[in-house]
Amino acid sequence: MADLATFALYLVPLGLIVAAYLWRRRRWSALHARELQAAVEAGLTEPTSLHPVVDPNRCIGSSSCVKACPEGAIGVINGKAQLVNAAVCIGHGACAAACPLEAIKLVFGTERRGIDIPNVKPNFETNVPGIFIAGELGGMGLIRKAAEQGRQAIASIRQADRSGTDLDVVIVGAGPAGIAAGLGAIQRRMKYVVLEQEDSLGGTVYHYPRNKIAMTAPMQLPIVGKVKFGEIQKEALLDFWSRVVRRTKLRIRFNEPMEAIERSGRGFRVRTTRGAYDAGAVLLAIGRRGTPRKLGVPGEEQPKVVYRLIDAEQYRGKRVLVVGGGDSALEAALAISEQPGAKAALSYRGDSFGRVKPKNRERLDAAAAKHRIELLLGSSIVEIGAADVTLRRGDRTWTLPNDVVIVCAGGVLPTDLLKKVGIEFETQHGTV
Ligand SMILES: Cc1cc2nc3c(=O)[nH]c(=O)nc-3n(C[C@H](O)[C@H](O)[C@H](O)COP(=O)(O)OP(=O)(O)OC[C@H]3O[C@@H](n4cnc5c(N)ncnc54)[C@H](O)[C@@H]3O)c2cc1C
Ligand code: SF4
Repeated sequence: MADLATFALYLVPLGLIVAAYLWRRRRWSALHARELQAAVEAGLTEPTSLHPVVDPNRCIGSSSCVKACPEGAIGVINGKAQLVNAAVCIGHGACAAACPLEAIKLVFGTERRGIDIPNVKPNFETNVPGIFIAGELGGMGLIRKAAEQGRQAIASIRQADRSGTDLDVVIVGAGPAGIAAGLGAIQRRMKYVVLEQEDSLGGTVYHYPRNKIAMTAPMQLPIVGKVKFGEIQKEALLDFWSRVVRRTKLRIRFNEPMEAIERSGRGFRVRTTRGAYDAGAVLLAIGRRGTPRKLGVPGEEQPKVVYRLIDAEQYRGKRVLVVGGGDSALEAALAISEQPGAKAALSYRGDSFGRVKPKNRERLDAAAAKHRIELLLGSSIVEIGAADVTLRRGDRTWTLPNDVVIVCAGGVLPTDLLKKVGIEFETQHGTV
């Protein structure tokens, strides 16, 4: 009898612990299944770049990957880990590092969507001698890795003695890789120029959602030394870089996209929208967001046409047409519709918004129902006038009074431009 009591004393609490564990596991599994379902319904199942694939034969559903992922991208369903929210995965690899059974590998592309990765040597030189690639364009994302690669690529360029008559190096892009490379060029007393297509510093970081916490490991920046961030708010990181640029007098030519690279003498001629630069080497630090896709319609060259929403408040009292069918287009239209006196319209070629977050779609439907946004589905832009825009739907064309056009049609990687100068790419389809 005493034995039975002792047995129960241990067995009952143990049973309760196991029951609580199984209940929690089932609850999380259901939650992750719902997240996956929502992503499937929104058409957001393709990761943008590097992402995990899980070997189901090795995975024991330990959930270490779920705890390690700072973006909430991975979940465990029915005891097996899987990418449940592919759109937010940024390829940290924290999930893979946390897995006790090494069941997770990081890959590029998927079966359905191949990703072009350039062939880059360990010294960051491409197959074209003199053209180097650092940062996310080469396949490896993350702030620290991009900055490290920018620093090391400049060292390689210096070592290879690719000095040019005019410039030693043209650095394209002012994200983490380009900034670190520029600092390296100053430190090594190289003749350089940094070209940036936008008017802002920081590359992709500048476009993170407001107040996003970026996770980054310590990194070594030329001139600045070791920087230990850990977790840092986007705005604070951008502020840090602005101070570094000011203090080191790093010269960046903003609003100057690179448009072509040609061979010239012993080096290259880099053509931009404003001129051309001759250099012994080119360092491409352009990331993978690409250059904003244009509509290619008459009138698009006017200053009233922009390719991203910076500050919705500047559109108070204005008639704004947003063009696009993704989350950034919906978010821009919604932000403008909240401005006093603004008239927001949203034009999209498709008949419905397939690949957007359900929350954005709900907010859009509500705004359209209250006539705060004019929804122009199935429409395309024919021409942009000074005070209006001509649209077409089927055989019908009509004119909409307009002050500003915001085109949110995604970005185009300059792959063709780079292939033209001889850079080789490999299309990867998510195989380990
Ligand atoms: C939402 C989100 C969250 C993230 N969170 C984190 C995080 O927490 N921690 C982390 O480590 N990483 C994070 N990342 C990834 C990280 O931001 C990127 O890996 C990193 O910024 C890559 O740096 P880069 O310098 O290679 O490219 P980018 O930062 O993309 O910079 C490239 C620059 O080149 C410019 N450019 C492009 N084409 C041209 C051209 N033709 N001419 C001139 N300039 C050009 C672009 O305008 C841009 O400024 C996140 C990414 C996203 C999308
Ligand atoms: S790669 Fe990073 S963001 Fe993607 S699932 Fe793993 S930890 Fe999360």
